[in-house]
Amino acid sequence: MTRDEPRSVLIEVALPLPLFQTFTYAIDDAMASRVRVGSRVVVPFRQRRQIGICVRLDAEKKPGTRIKQALEVPDAEPVVGADLVALCNWIAEYYVAPPGVALRLALPVLLTGADAPRPSQRTRRMLRVTGEAPSLIERDAIFGRAKQQRALFEAIEALGGTTSAEHLRDQLGFSPAVISALEKRGLVVAEAEVVARDPFLSRRIVQTPRLSPTDAQRNAIEEMSAADGAETFLLHGVTGSGKTLVYIELLRAVLSRGKSAIVLVPEIALTPQTVDRFRGAFGDSIAVLHSALSDGERYDAWLALKRGEKRIAVGARSAVFAPVSDLGAIIVDEEHEASYKQGEAPRYHAREVAIMRAHAAGALVVLGSATPSLESWVNAAAGKYRLLRLPDRVAGGKLPKVEIVNLRSRFSGGNGASAPPYSDYDRTISAELDEALHARLARKEQSILLLNRRGYASFVQCDECGYVASCPNCSITLTHHRTPERLVCHYCLHQEEPATKCGRCGGVTLRQRGVGTQRVERLLGERFPAAGIARMDVDTTSGKWAHVEILDRVASGEVDILLGTQMIAKGLDFPNVTLVGVVDADVGINLPDFRASERCFQLLSQVAGRAGRGPKGGSVIIQTRVPEHHAVVHALTHDYDTFVHAEIEGRREPAYPPFVRLANIVFSAVEEDAAMELALAAGEWMSQLLAAGQVEGITLVGPAPCPIERIKNRWRWHLLLKSSQPGTLTKALRFFAERYDPATASAERRITIDRDPVSLL
Ligand code: ADP
Ligand code: ZN
Repeated sequence: MTRDEPRSVLIEVALPLPLFQTFTYAIDDAMASRVRVGSRVVVPFRQRRQIGICVRLDAEKKPGTRIKQALEVPDAEPVVGADLVALCNWIAEYYVAPPGVALRLALPVLLTGADAPRPSQRTRRMLRVTGEAPSLIERDAIFGRAKQQRALFEAIEALGGTTSAEHLRDQLGFSPAVISALEKRGLVVAEAEVVARDPFLSRRIVQTPRLSPTDAQRNAIEEMSAADGAETFLLHGVTGSGKTLVYIELLRAVLSRGKSAIVLVPEIALTPQTVDRFRGAFGDSIAVLHSALSDGERYDAWLALKRGEKRIAVGARSAVFAPVSDLGAIIVDEEHEASYKQGEAPRYHAREVAIMRAHAAGALVVLGSATPSLESWVNAAAGKYRLLRLPDRVAGGKLPKVEIVNLRSRFSGGNGASAPPYSDYDRTISAELDEALHARLARKEQSILLLNRRGYASFVQCDECGYVASCPNCSITLTHHRTPERLVCHYCLHQEEPATKCGRCGGVTLRQRGVGTQRVERLLGERFPAAGIARMDVDTTSGKWAHVEILDRVASGEVDILLGTQMIAKGLDFPNVTLVGVVDADVGINLPDFRASERCFQLLSQVAGRAGRGPKGGSVIIQTRVPEHHAVVHALTHDYDTFVHAEIEGRREPAYPPFVRLANIVFSAVEEDAAMELALAAGEWMSQLLAAGQVEGITLVGPAPCPIERIKNRWRWHLLLKSSQPGTLTKALRFFAERYDPATASAERRITIDRDPVSLL
């Protein structure tokens, strides 16, 4: 060690930068007593202050490096527990992400800023009486004729010696002048008290009577409660089989052992009913990590969990990083949902992270679904997960009868002259569905209509030349929206005025093809003018509480027909919904993605499951042009097992998950050629790596253009890696991420690695 380098302890720090290494810093004695693995550390990095996380104590000096001094250790306690540091390190390793970026997952945003290491909190002003209570005679001397001051002083005394200024002013009517007079005389002091923020507090908790479980539920609860330590259960329960009750009873068992739990739901805004049930059972021991929380609210919830004031965290995928200690269980509801995969780095899958975290903590995992992912199904079949089934709906309820309407035979004439003059409504809503809707309205029952395509028409086509208006930045067609009248790209939000002439041939007959939710809403409004119709899609739910408001209106009976995109397929439990209609089951079924059929089957099964959840029963009508498709056929009979067997055969050759693991490397650039060159060069590098025998057992597919060739002005290519050995894949990807140096890379050329992708589009 040279003289000018400080003699002190060295630590290793992960910085939130796109760099795969960690950095070594020296800390002085004062800081050394505070720093531990998981502590925040403010350090100098490239002329700037950066806030990082200590990932190792007793680091060693790497030869040839100059060690700088850390500037600050802002917190007395580490902000990230050692268990979460280890979990984030695993994420960084497996998903090939920079360690500092992965560690950010475990921190609330308020703790990530380098300049304001201490988060602001909402506080309220509290007044406290000082000194010993004066005797009556002393009071006369102190207050004299200042009656208001004496009354105020005694009011605070009566409230236990301290109360909020707000209460004194608003409830007891003391003027601010009297309050400040007491303060000036030193008879009371003002102090700031931290107030926890929680918007869910304003939503009333409905105490629900505790139901007694059915035999199947009891069996599941008993098996889970008896499990010792890290075990993963797959709870396969048909829609309406009462999975939530099983979760709640398991959580009771976990809490009674003094442990804590995490409940993951796909999108919390869409599942207010589920959240209400948890709150009904556990009240304020639950922290709801809602996407509408402000940074401050999120921080408060984080703190309450970290301190153990709350022991159950409910939230979307990021809740898997909730800072609870003594973890007893993690529940992943609707485990098949694609929203558990994060779309940006680190591209983790919350289900896999849940299993890793629970395993390390000796906790159990429950994966619940009516339509489990093929991956989980195979793991259960192989004995890696323990399968528990709820094969029936509770209380003797029946799964709804499903009926298919074949639109192909109906409109087979296409534009041909022989086709009868169907109206827009008739082309969209078949006579069968129309009649069923009519009957529900007459009986004051409710209907749900699914159309997984928002906007007005799906595209606008020239009758003369067939030209379809498409986005100038992305290779997809523009969607026609009304109010305001616009053509909109659903990928990049590009908007333009609808043209009156064809952009290619100048033809003047432009026709709207395909329907979106906006158009169906209008058609329904014209057909059933007296009905209450609500539309739920991205366009109607931009407000903070918009989902909840719409669903509350359905619950109150104000809405007769709820129309929406896949948002309405999840979790809803309305007993008066006796009809579910699928306006067009084929949306998405033919996407060039290996999961398209699985997605379609899941969506149809889930939405069908919204019908007939009450004593009145219910039925489902699916409109399709491909009634023979196995996703449609098996949704018809609620036959998950047969669907899985059919689907899984299609994944063998060529091999797709669950038979192999995938990694999708996506190359993008503004210039079409640049994206191609980038991909080809990387593909060549990867082939050589494999040819050199550095890693074995990997198949390369591509490079090739992505199915959606262009998004947001960027051309896209991809290279797919397949392997049956996850470790091998990790090795190859890390070689690539750390050593591949694209000679042509620049800021506008990007390479992203997506491990276990949920979509290849
Ligand atoms: P899933 O999530 O499996 O689709 P839910 O948990 O939403 O099903 O339960 C469906 C309905 O059945 C809910 O209204 C719930 O209150 C009710 N329920 C669940 N378990 C029981 C039970 N043991 N007895 C009576 N009703 C139940
Ligand atoms: Zn676009």
